[in-house]
Amino acid sequence: MSNPQSEEGMVDEERLELERGLRFAHVMLMVGQSQGNEALAGVMALADLLVSNGVISEEEFVAYRRRASEQVGQMAQPRVRLAKLGDKYNEPKTAEIDCAARIHLCQARCCSFNFYLTVQDLDEGVAKWDYGNPYWIKHEADGYCTHCDPQSRSCTIHPQRPHVCRLYDCRNDDRIWIDFEARIPAPVEPPRKPIPIALAEPDLASDLFPRAAQTPRGEE
Ligand code: SF4
Ligand code: SF4
Repeated sequence: MSNPQSEEGMVDEERLELERGLRFAHVMLMVGQSQGNEALAGVMALADLLVSNGVISEEEFVAYRRRASEQVGQMAQPRVRLAKLGDKYNEPKTAEIDCAARIHLCQARCCSFNFYLTVQDLDEGVAKWDYGNPYWIKHEADGYCTHCDPQSRSCTIHPQRPHVCRLYDCRNDDRIWIDFEARIPAPVEPPRKPIPIALAEPDLASDLFPRAAQTPRGEE
């Protein structure tokens, strides 16, 4: 039998997610349009001036523009992130860690980190992503991944967990362990605040790469 209240709650939740996703899309459009217009005006003015004054040739301008384009492409800015890591079911680098015996110590902190999904994860349609920050894993208000069981802290989609989850190795991550072998966890940090829509990019690098060992939790 259906439960009208929970159905209504789900509709509200889905609507909020959809609205957040639309806001993200609108922010992206505005940022793109504004930056594009500014860049276009600047380049047109500069190119006209330099070429008409004989300072550079058109060929030189094209070559310099290409190089500048590459530099801009590497700048941190809001963008849609989607990792390409191949087939997760044939991932040879999957870390084998005795998680079940350690969760009472680590509190599955790895499942509170940010990372984005792969094309394969998306196509599978099991792992949920954050509509406001596509295609990052969806988090709950407690800061944990939406697929992390709040009681047991186990993964509710373990057989189909994202590719990045299979690659992550916490052994040398000082956010989690002072000493992995001695089973001494690092102090628990307070949950992170929700990441502002479309402005999460500057936080990404620090979340993707553990501070100590540079072992990946998510990357392209
Ligand atoms: S922090 Fe390490 S031991 Fe704990 S759940 Fe994550 S991978 Fe397993
Ligand atoms: S999908 Fe599973 S393993 Fe990956 S972060 Fe979420 S709960 Fe953890």
